[in-house]
Amino acid sequence: MDRLVCFDLDNTLIDRDGAFRSWARWWTNRAGFGTDAADWLVAHDNGGYRPRAELFADFEQRFGAAISVDDYHRDHPTFTWADDAVLTGLAALRSAGWRLAVVTNGTVIQQTGKLTQTGIADVVDYCCISEAVGVRKPDPRIFAVAAQGAGATLGGGWMVGDHPAYDTAGGQAAGLKTIQVGSHHPEPPADHHVPSILEAFPLIR
Ligand SMILES: [Mg+2]
Repeated sequence: MDRLVCFDLDNTLIDRDGAFRSWARWWTNRAGFGTDAADWLVAHDNGGYRPRAELFADFEQRFGAAISVDDYHRDHPTFTWADDAVLTGLAALRSAGWRLAVVTNGTVIQQTGKLTQTGIADVVDYCCISEAVGVRKPDPRIFAVAAQGAGATLGGGWMVGDHPAYDTAGGQAAGLKTIQVGSHHPEPPADHHVPSILEAFPLIR
């Protein structure tokens, strides 16, 4: 059976924080606020891990304007993009015989929007979104679901991501080799640490 490469989405395959910044500037500008409102959203976003309802309630208290969570889930994905080199790298892995899965924690509406908008959905075998499958990283069961969805085996596979607990520790718990993307070199140590996704592709063999 074919071997599997799992990829995290946010801040691994795409610059999620950059897209959030663009959305924040667009929303606050449209609502008539200055750059301080966008800067506040970026500063309190916590990489997307802060619950949106909580973030937007605090924003309303401070700036007096309500941001709809539903509108955010619809609008934010339209600010995401994938670099051509990332799409090319994914396509090359697939041509080399790997099965590819995106394994991402998040809501179906938000993550599906990003996967479609960026074109990533078109170049992978399966997109595993935690809300859809009922299990979240770092639970190793989500990687088993990804392998099944992609038609691959976990043995000899890889997990590539930016989060030490969700991606690296989660992948290791599922028996995958791991590549940690980003500037941190935290515990647990991954098999490889690289500054960006582009340096990860040649390590997968
Ligand atoms: Mg991530």
